[in-house]
Amino acid sequence: MTNTPENPMYPENTMEKLISLCKRKGFIYQGSEIYGGLAGTWDYGPLGVALKQNIQNLWWKKFVLDREDMYGIDAAILMNQEVWKASGHVGGFSDPLVEDLKTHKRHRADHLLEEQGIDPREMTPSQMDAYIKGKGIKSPDGNPLGDVRQFNMMLKTSVGANEDSSSISYLRPETAQGIFVNFKNVVDSFHPKLPFGIAQIGKAFRNEIAPRDFIFRVRELEQMEIEYFVRPENWEERFEYLYNEQQDFLAEIGLRKERLHKIIVPAADRAHYSKHSIDTEFDFPFGQKELLGLAYRTDFDLNAHKDASKVDISYFDESEADPEKKRLVPHCIEPTFGVGRLLLAVLADAYREDNLGDEPRVYLQLSPRVAPILVAVSPLLKNKPQLVEKAREVYMTLRKAYPGRVVFDDNGNIGKRYRRQDEIGTPFCVVIDFDTVEQNSGVTLRYRDTGEQKRMSVEELIATISCHLE
Ligand code: ATP
Repeated sequence: MTNTPENPMYPENTMEKLISLCKRKGFIYQGSEIYGGLAGTWDYGPLGVALKQNIQNLWWKKFVLDREDMYGIDAAILMNQEVWKASGHVGGFSDPLVEDLKTHKRHRADHLLEEQGIDPREMTPSQMDAYIKGKGIKSPDGNPLGDVRQFNMMLKTSVGANEDSSSISYLRPETAQGIFVNFKNVVDSFHPKLPFGIAQIGKAFRNEIAPRDFIFRVRELEQMEIEYFVRPENWEERFEYLYNEQQDFLAEIGLRKERLHKIIVPAADRAHYSKHSIDTEFDFPFGQKELLGLAYRTDFDLNAHKDASKVDISYFDESEADPEKKRLVPHCIEPTFGVGRLLLAVLADAYREDNLGDEPRVYLQLSPRVAPILVAVSPLLKNKPQLVEKAREVYMTLRKAYPGRVVFDDNGNIGKRYRRQDEIGTPFCVVIDFDTVEQNSGVTLRYRDTGEQKRMSVEELIATISCHLE
């Protein structure tokens, strides 16, 4: 699955175990699995969808709903091909590719260099080519390699019944352009004051040369992006602010701070539209890799669309006293988050192996904010109607408090239920026993991480659980 060495901060073979857990438990399945799969595509099962939605909902709440300066949109995936010419993607959205001359498998030249301990970030494709040839670097299968060349990563398609040059479209490689082409629409509808942002969550597609590392590098991905528009003189201050907001979000979904790294991207490695970029990298089980990015896109995109479409999408700033500065093309800062990479980081960071009650166990220490199931409710014994009835009553009460995040679990014995819920990261299990029913002594709340149990009323239970969601 990966050629990169294992990260010693994780239990041995974490990726293998995590991929198997994800499949077994219904988080993530291989795309088109019964037909042998389709490289770079993955399907989310019920628990994966729940985890993904929890991450996306927290993001939408933090960056859109809780703010007065942010506008949410949902643009079409297919766009007029002129968008991608103007944005520079037709000409420049490419990765360095090198082919194994024997097997004809294609590899990312920069990744092959990284595997040799070389930092390719400041290298041009011809420098990579010279290095590979000079050192006689071989393909992962041990064969000679061809020339390094640039490969455009956009997935091309054709729209309508006729296939000719006018019907060409692309599955968007980033959600950002849907925002730029709607900039004028949002301004005309809402008259926002600068600075303000437009946010979007949606699918993007990249014809990656070598998809790998489970859902880390895929061909069909999901992004959560913001284009934040500012006056040019204010970009640095806002950039810093948005960087801190990104880091707050990562803490909110439970990622450990010590596994996150701030990387100032060198000029040669920046995207064609960026003047300054900071990536946040994460210690994945297969090494330290990009999790998300922050780019200062300047007025590059809005100007490009203004010129190409011949539509004046400049902004009129009524609040500006200086008449010279009233009309402008705002500059843009882009915080971008890959949903799949966040989800993988959250799962990997949460993966734990320990001994509880002298028995080995595997569990996911997921934050209650993102765990697919927040509470599992069980009767101590499933063949005692009075326990089942009370358990159903508590279950219904909790469902109202936490819609979609509570399950009723009466399979197997109670020990097995705990293990099963631990393995999918459910932070709280609630058990109804004879004392609950006969002595009205409350329910038992069991904590996933410690196995500790406490008796409490249902009101206290809701207060305790809700505390963990703040
Ligand atoms: P990389 O260098 O890893 O290819 P990138 O710098 O091309 O990533 P961006 O263009 O900045 O990535 O995309 C924004 C975010 O989208 C990334 O930070 C990442 O979270 C996500 N992303 C990009 N490409 C992929 C992919 N092929 N699979 C999964 N997520 C991706």
